This record gives sequence, C-alpha cells and structure tokens, in this order.
Amino acid sequence: MIKFDKLTPPEYGERIEIVNGELKVPDNPIIPFIEGDGIGPDIMNASKLVWDVAVEIAYAGERKISWFEIPAGEKAIELYGEPLPDDTIKAIEHYIIAIKGPLTTPVAGGYRSLNVTMRQTMDLYACVRPVKYFSGVPSPVTHPEQMDIVIFRENTEDVYAGIEWKQGSPEVKKVIDFLNENMNTRIEYDAGIGVKPISIRKTKRLVRKAIKYAIDNNRKSVTLVHKGNIMKFTEGAFKDWGYEVAVDEFRDYVITEDELWDQVKDPDGVTPTIKEGAFKDLRGGRNAGDPGDRIVIKDRIADQMFQQVLTRTNEYDVVALPNLNGDYLSDATAAQIGGLGIAPGANIGDYIALFEPTHGSAPKYRGLDKVNPSSLILSGVMMLEYMGWIEAADLIEDALGRTFMDRKVTYDLARQLENVEPIKTSEFGKEIIKRMSN
Ligand code: NAP
Repeated sequence: MIKFDKLTPPEYGERIEIVNGELKVPDNPIIPFIEGDGIGPDIMNASKLVWDVAVEIAYAGERKISWFEIPAGEKAIELYGEPLPDDTIKAIEHYIIAIKGPLTTPVAGGYRSLNVTMRQTMDLYACVRPVKYFSGVPSPVTHPEQMDIVIFRENTEDVYAGIEWKQGSPEVKKVIDFLNENMNTRIEYDAGIGVKPISIRKTKRLVRKAIKYAIDNNRKSVTLVHKGNIMKFTEGAFKDWGYEVAVDEFRDYVITEDELWDQVKDPDGVTPTIKEGAFKDLRGGRNAGDPGDRIVIKDRIADQMFQQVLTRTNEYDVVALPNLNGDYLSDATAAQIGGLGIAPGANIGDYIALFEPTHGSAPKYRGLDKVNPSSLILSGVMMLEYMGWIEAADLIEDALGRTFMDRKVTYDLARQLENVEPIKTSEFGKEIIKRMSN
C-alpha cells in the first residue's frame, strides 16, 4: 500500500496497472486530479460531473471513477508550503493516469513553471493535442471544418530544457569566452545565452509515438515540422531522425513523400499519370503517387507550416514537432477552430499520462462561473479514450457537439455569435449532461 506524507487515497477504487506492456484499467479506477488555480475549480467541478454522468450512462453503473484530489499550485502552498510537493508526483506516478486544471506560473521570480517541471520530472515526453472543429463554434477562418490534426509536441528538450545564462553573469562570460576562444564564434559580450539540445533518443521516441498513433487511428500522414534550413544540427536533425524511425521501424506501414513522388516522376520530371484519390504533392500542387493505405511521412519547414495549416488545412493530419514549434503551432491551430477554450491536451510518457487543458488559469475570471470548460472536458475525453472507455468518450463528444449546435455557449463563444446570451460554466456542463441522456 502506497504511503503519502499528507494525502489519503480514497477507500474505494483500484489502481490502474501495466500488465505485459498494456494498461489494465479496473472498473473503478482511482484517478488523481489537480483542481488548478484561478478558473481551475470552476471548470473542474463542471467537468467532473460531465465525465461521471457519461461513465454511468455508458456502462449502466458498472464502472465509476474514484477521484483522488492531489494538490499543486496555490492549494499545495497552503498545505505543504511548496507548489509541487513530492506527494503529488508520487500519486501521479503510482496511479499512472491523472488529470489537472491549469496552474499559475509567476512571471518574474517565484517558482519555475509547475507544468514544465511536472513534464520533465515524470518524463512525460509527448504533449499530445488534437485540434478538431465542432460545428456551430465560431471561428475566424472560412473552413474550420477542414482542421482535424493531432499535434505531438516534444516536451522535454529544445530551448525549454532550461539551460540559460543571464546577460552579465559570471557564468555567461565563461560560456562566451569559451565559445569565442575555442569554437570560432563572435558572440557579443553583452549577450544572454540559451542552449537548444535536441537528441536522437528523445526525437525518436516522440516520432515513434506519433507514427504508432497514426497507425492505430487510421490516420493518413505524419508531418515532421522543423526549422532545419537554419538550425541544421538540431531542427534539421529532428527531421532526419524522424524519417529514420519511420523507415527503420515502420517500413511496412509508411511511405515517404519523396518515395511517393519518385513513383510517378518520369525522366522529364512531368507527372505522367494522375490516379483517382492520389496524394497531392506540395511541389506545385501536382498529384504524386498513390500511397494506398500507407501513412505518408512528410516534412515541412515551420514558417511554411503556419501558412499551410491555414491555406491547405486538410492536407495535415498527425504532426510531430520539437518543443518550441509545437508550442506555437498548438495555439495557432486552436485559434482556427474557435480558441483555447476548446483545445484539449495530454502529457504522455511511456505509460504515465497527465491530461490538461491547453489554456492557463485566467486569474481575472476566477470564481465567476463564467469561462468555457470545454478544453478540460475534452481533455477528459482523451483520458477516457486512453483508458479504453471509448463509449463514455463518444457520448461526451457527441453531446458537446450538440450543445454547441444549439448555441448554448459560454461568454467566449457567445461574444462571437449574434443574438446569443452566454451561459455560465456550470450551466454549460448541465446542458451537455441533458444531451447525453437523450
Ligand atoms: P490564459 O490563462 O490561458 O488566459 C488568456 C485568455 O485566454 C483569457 O483571458 C481568456 O481570454 C482566454 N481563456 C483562457 N481560458 C479560457 C477558458 N477556459 N474559456 C474561455 N476563455 C479562456 O493565459 P494567461 O493569462 O497568459 O496565463 C494565466 C496563467 O496561467 C499564467 O500564470 C500562466 O503561466 C498560466 N498557464 C498555465 C498553463 C497550464 O497550466 N498548462 C498553460 C498556460 C498558461 P479573454 O480575456 O479574451 O476572455
């Protein structure tokens, strides 16, 4: 029996286990949750109700989640005097699957981002963010329905590894001296320095996860997004190692964009045949070969990708990228389908998974019962899918879609629609529940 310093796990419920490399989920799993700061309590209360009712309906009362509250952020400071106590990490590692609300990060000083710390401490190396449109949600683009991508963002290295030296510090002087004297650089002496590590092992495990996901979910392509034309040995290497994983480990399942192009290229470089349903190659928008049921592995330079997701949205499916590119692209694509209020996410390691909304704690809306809980609700849908409780996940997704269609929405979406009065966070949750029952 696991012992905590100050926490008591629920009396009823069982632990999710890993058996022969697979998750074994009991009918009454104990799932830890972090309520979150700011708007956390409002959205967590509404969401838990939705998840519980969905599970009850989907399995006629045979299954039930046993919730276990664990502290982080402000609640942890009150209880432990620190924002991320060992008990919290221990609970997530022990129970394998957990879900959290947003946590506030002080901008200057204070403590380091708890989210980044959690991802790194538990080695939750893939930040997975599905970006899919729900009909009825207002969007700034003409064809938001074309967006249906799943982002796999590397979560533990790149410029997020936290290796930085402050301008003017003795450490930065040492680093600059070393580089200028030994490495043939000419860095200004009043510079701050950050380091961008991108490794073979961490790149390959991320891309491997993305390709496995694409295979398991019948996806059409995996796009590696990088800035390799400029940063050849980090971002460029990410692309090269990504292709290596694809070809070395998934040869029977994948075809690269270049291979597809070679299939149809005649000696004059003119496309000879255009097959029905053929894959459209980026170069000149011409049709390339037919991938059949193979997953196409392609790559795009990051700046170009930001344009492509707007202009050729439906040509992208699963997307794998280094940390910083992933951070930017997640928010930009979320905006296309209606904003951060409806974008879910998860941080996943080899088994341990921590689900969370993409947005932050929006402190100005704290306690107002006002914000949109959809991002957290959908993070819970991802969690149910990860547990294999697909029926409950589908029930929520369907009911949420119908709630949007009926124009029952919170302030963020109401302000973009004409003649729609916003409803509260808690009311929105109840509207979803109503639609699950009929
Ligand atoms: P934010 O909390 O995401 O809020 C920015 C704006 O996004 C809000 O003012 C609101 O826009 C909109 N928004 C966010 N969540 C919403 C929701 N559920 N429903 C409707 N609209 C929503 O970003 P921030 O103000 O930059 O960050 C606040 C704190 O959260 C910071 O301490 C930051 O470090 C932290 N943070 C935590 C996480 C995490 O826990 N994973 C992630 C990001 C940020 P309007 O003002 O237009 O209404």
